[in-house]
Amino acid sequence: MMKQYVQYDEELAPFFPKSANVDMLLFSLGEKHCMRTKIEVEGNIISLLELWCQNYNCHFRIDQEQYIYIARDHKLLEAAIALDHSPKAHALSLGRLLGYPECCCQMIESLGEEGIDPFEETYKLQEFTEPFQIINPVRYREGFAYISHVPCSTCCVASYKIARRVKGFLEENQDHSTFDNLFKWTKEFL
Ligand SMILES: [Zn+2]
Repeated sequence: MMKQYVQYDEELAPFFPKSANVDMLLFSLGEKHCMRTKIEVEGNIISLLELWCQNYNCHFRIDQEQYIYIARDHKLLEAAIALDHSPKAHALSLGRLLGYPECCCQMIESLGEEGIDPFEETYKLQEFTEPFQIINPVRYREGFAYISHVPCSTCCVASYKIARRVKGFLEENQDHSTFDNLFKWTKEFL
């Protein structure tokens, strides 16, 4: 098995939103050193997570709003939580911690938190032309995307490099059942 990659266990998946597929894959590939996503805290999820983190040498924390933060480095984990809960503007530094490209972090910073959703909306109308269609983030929430951030433009090269690597990984690891859906989506672009 691909022990070096974090196996996004089938047992864990039901507690996570579909978009966590993408985050987990980016985290596994080292494209992000800290991931943040929502989680349903119920049933035996905490003991499942403890076991899973032990297995992959990761740490996790869940905040009051049921956001989970996962990182291999404990200090990084604490820094991300502190930043995310800080009343000061933190889009730029949090974006960096979550592994977003610098150009995209700068763009998010300039838009402000309220500006991100309307900006992403505009993407639905825009064309991501070859070969940049793989950085289209519009279906991220459904679990179909190769990046977990809003790219600064429809031809962001830094985002493209990440997406290309993720797509390549999926193409080489077609039998990795956890990422089945993402792989099916990959085929649409072949
Ligand atoms: Zn960018």
